[in-house]
Amino acid sequence: MLKSLCVVGAQWGDEGKGKIVDFLTEKFSNVVRFQGGNNAGHTLVVDGKVTKLHLIPSGILRKHAVCCIGAGVVIDPLVLKQEIEGLQAAGISVTPDRLKIDPRATLILPQHRLLDAAMESFRTNKIGTTGRGIGPAYEDRVRRASFKVLDLDSLDKLSVRIDECVEVTNAILTSVYKSNERLAKEDLISVLRVARECIIPFVADVSVLISKSDNVLFEGAQGILLDQTYGFSPYVTSSNTIGGSVAVGAGGRFDGKVLGVIKAYATRVGSGAMPTELHGELQEHFVTVGKEFGTTTGRRRRVGWLDFVSLNYAIEIGGIDALALTKVDILAGLDEIKVCTSYACSEDKIELSPMKESLYGGSLVGDKVKFDKCPLDSETLSLVEGYEYETLAGFSSENCTNLDGAVRDFVKLIEEKTGRPVVIVSISPDRSGTHITEAGKSFFGFN
Ligand code: IMP
Ligand code: MG
Repeated sequence: MLKSLCVVGAQWGDEGKGKIVDFLTEKFSNVVRFQGGNNAGHTLVVDGKVTKLHLIPSGILRKHAVCCIGAGVVIDPLVLKQEIEGLQAAGISVTPDRLKIDPRATLILPQHRLLDAAMESFRTNKIGTTGRGIGPAYEDRVRRASFKVLDLDSLDKLSVRIDECVEVTNAILTSVYKSNERLAKEDLISVLRVARECIIPFVADVSVLISKSDNVLFEGAQGILLDQTYGFSPYVTSSNTIGGSVAVGAGGRFDGKVLGVIKAYATRVGSGAMPTELHGELQEHFVTVGKEFGTTTGRRRRVGWLDFVSLNYAIEIGGIDALALTKVDILAGLDEIKVCTSYACSEDKIELSPMKESLYGGSLVGDKVKFDKCPLDSETLSLVEGYEYETLAGFSSENCTNLDGAVRDFVKLIEEKTGRPVVIVSISPDRSGTHITEAGKSFFGFN
């Protein structure tokens, strides 16, 4: 059996990672979050009952699983507290033997939300962040100014840093971003107090736990196309989301497999290029039937056809070994299904120098630059004006339930175009609608 597996999103997030992690936790004893924060939103449905999580790993609904928040995660204490209380009210035990939090994890504090909002309103080209303070919290970590879980043992010893933080934050808000908001020292101290009470009981060295365990499931948040370094900047999140970020965010060594979760179509929240974006009737279909509203912000998600150009980029850069395909049921009933296999720009819109050619993986076809590998920058992506699609026959709900007919062809096409096995197919929001394929049985070593 696979001992260590990392589950990541291979598109722009919201692929259904939480659901896949909940399903797979049956076979794993530890589930570890290693990046991101409460910008993530995971919706789990078990026997019709819906649970929404943002910070606590999606393994929490399985009683046997120890859930860990690794050093690479940014934690908003108020959100964590609310999430723990919500789970406990629903009869799910969140005790120190079930939840472990690494002392090196970074805290999201009131200044981060204020700065997230101020920066976003200052920008001409909005990123469309979740507004949860994620970016500013990671910025503080990099400039060695963050408050970490390990700082919570004594608030007295933090007094100089608290004063500095208030001064620096308010200077930036006022002078740089021309914001009327101010960080109040009492607010910062009050959230640090909540953090002490709420987090300290759960503190444990997650890296040691992982190195002692031979059975760990790593739960990624967001998606590879939003990776801080490898995504299409600047329309990205502030953490690394590729499979290779596990060791950085959880500690120790990761030598497991990487499972990429993909939706049967594409969705995106926030700004940035989305080459296969749909408008009109099909957009309505995907948003309504697929309930494509953000779990965290409630924003309506942008939708489009499955896009193999960006997906294959994500698979390569993300180190993805196999795929889990979700929301196939949302395609049922459509007359035909399309998948995108290349993009094009006209020659006068993009200069094709030899360097760019190899960088972007494009080639000149007539007066068009054709990209069957992904252009790497948002600017070129936004110039894309034409696409090649392949069209497949539609399928019925029965085909979905039985994974036969055109559904089988769809899965086969994905395997052909990506060169990766589809090891899980999900056909309904409930845990029970998740199936391990024949290829999956040999990949996982269990049924
Ligand atoms: P941030 O992570 O809040 O800084 O937002 C940066 C970009 O990532 C925005 O486009 C967000 O909509 C997007 N984003 C962040 N987290 C998620 C997620 O969990 N699912 C989908 N999009 C996300
Ligand atoms: Mg989500």
